[in-house]
Amino acid sequence: MSDETKKGGATPRCPHCNSRLKRWILPDASTWDENWHLVCFNDECGYYQGGWTWMATNYNQHASYRFKMNPLTGSTGPVPVWSPDALRTGILPDDDE
Ligand SMILES: [Zn+2]
Repeated sequence: MSDETKKGGATPRCPHCNSRLKRWILPDASTWDENWHLVCFNDECGYYQGGWTWMATNYNQHASYRFKMNPLTGSTGPVPVWSPDALRTGILPDDDE
């Protein structure tokens, strides 16, 4: 365990690949700084990579999903994507303060 997990400090990490989650604005957000979630945008993430196979097997679709966390409630779940570049326009710059 590293000390980066201390509360109030570093950005939470993806439980599937341990990379830093990115702040991502919801497509229907009306304000700039409130309606963002934390999403894993690591293309090597096992959750995301396994999603392509899962979607193809179960829905015969070329799609996947990425790991998402609601920072307010702590709830987690998938956010669907249709390409590696999908949703990336909503990523907020890292805040390294
Ligand atoms: Zn991940």
